[in-house]
Amino acid sequence: MNIIEVESRHESGVHAKRPIVLVRGQGARVWDDQGRSYIDCATGHGVAILGHCHPKVVEAIQRQSARLITCTDTYYNDTRAQLLERLGRIVPAGMERVFLCNSGTEAVEGALKFARYTTRRAGVVAMMRGFHGRSMGSLSATHNPKYRKPFEPLVPGFTHIPLNKLDAAAQAITEETAAVIVEPVQGEGGVRPAAPEFLQGLRRLCDERGALLILDEIQTGMGRTGRMLALEHAGVVPDILCLGKGIGGGVPMGAVVLGPKVAPLKPGLHGSTFGGNPLACAAALATLQVLEEEGLPGRAAEKGAYALRRLEALHDAPMVREVRGLGLMIGIELKCKSRPYLDVLHERGIMALPAGPTVVRLLPPLMIPDDDLEYVLDTVIDVLGQTLQVSDEEDD
Ligand SMILES: *Cc1c(COP(=O)(O)O)cnc(C)c1O
Repeated sequence: MNIIEVESRHESGVHAKRPIVLVRGQGARVWDDQGRSYIDCATGHGVAILGHCHPKVVEAIQRQSARLITCTDTYYNDTRAQLLERLGRIVPAGMERVFLCNSGTEAVEGALKFARYTTRRAGVVAMMRGFHGRSMGSLSATHNPKYRKPFEPLVPGFTHIPLNKLDAAAQAITEETAAVIVEPVQGEGGVRPAAPEFLQGLRRLCDERGALLILDEIQTGMGRTGRMLALEHAGVVPDILCLGKGIGGGVPMGAVVLGPKVAPLKPGLHGSTFGGNPLACAAALATLQVLEEEGLPGRAAEKGAYALRRLEALHDAPMVREVRGLGLMIGIELKCKSRPYLDVLHERGIMALPAGPTVVRLLPPLMIPDDDLEYVLDTVIDVLGQTLQVSDEEDD
C-alpha cells in the first residue's frame, strides 16, 4: 500500500502534511517507514512530554485495557478516582473539582460554559494572537482571522485585547464580562510569554468586576515551562484551568479544573461520552507519576535555561529577530518566513514547529537526552544563522 497516496485520497484535506510516514517512536525519537530517525521537537504540538512510548505509560495502558476500557461517567471508577486525586495535588489549593474531556478545545468549551453559567454574563475577553481551539466556542476566543473568518458568525460577546497591555484589559473587562481567557505563554501565537504583572493585573481586574479568570494551560501545563503549571511562575490562581495536550501521555484527554468561585454544576448541565474513560485516566495517571518521579518540570527548567543561553549565539544572526521562551517552550522569531528553515531542520533530522508564519517553535520532550538536545541546539544555531533563499509560493 502506498500510505501517502491512500491517506491523501481519503483524508479531509485540512491537514498540511509532510511526505513522511511515521511508524514508530521511542523516547525523543521517531522513525519513518524507511528507517530514518528524527529528534522530535514537535511532539505532536507538545503532546509527547514524556517522549514516545514511555514504558510506564505503555504498561498502564496495557494493564487498563485488559481490565476496563470504557466506563461512562454515570458510574464511579477506581482509575478515574486515582487520577482525580493526583490531579488535585498539582493544581492550586481549592481547585477541587474537575470535568474530564477528550481534547483541548473541549476543555475550553467547558470553561466558557461554566463561566457563563456562574456569572450569568455573556462577555469573554481574550487576547490577540491567542489560540484556544477550533470548535465554535473556543474558535470565538481564538484570534487568528485565518481560522475564524470562514466560519463566521461565531459566538457573540468575544473581544480581543493586546497581550501584556493592562490598560486595554481595564477598558475591556466590564460588568458584562463572564471571563477573561489567557495562555500564560502563547503557543500557536508565537511563543509569547504573558508578563507575570499582566496575569496578576488580570486577576485583580476580574476580582474587582466579578469576572472569572480562565488560564489556558493546554500547551504550557504538565511541566512544559519548567514548573508543573506555568501559573506558578506568576503566582496567579485562576478560577478555571484548562489542561490538555500532554496530560494523557499521548492518549486524548482534556480537563477543566474548577476553583471555588465556579457555581455548583448540576447533572446534565454539561457532558461527554468519553470524558474520564478509564483508558485515558490510566495513561494520565502514569504520566503524572512519571513527571513527578523523574522531576521532569525541574529538568525542563534547567534544560530550557541552558538552551536559551546557547541560543544567544543567534542574537547577531542576520535573519533572527528574537529568541524567547520559558522552560522547554522555545520560540525563535525570524525576520522572514520560518518554513524554509523548518524544512532544512527536517532534512537534518529535527522536527520543529512553526508558531505563526515567522516563528520556529521547539517543544522537545521534557526527558530529551543531553546529547540529543546538544545536536538540536548545534543544528538550530547553524541553520537559523544562515540566510536561506525563500520561495514565495508557500506560506504558513
Ligand atoms: C492546542 C491548544 C488548544 C486546542 O487543543 P486541541 O486538543 O487541539 O483541541 C487550545 N489551547 C491551547 C493553548 C493549545 O495549545
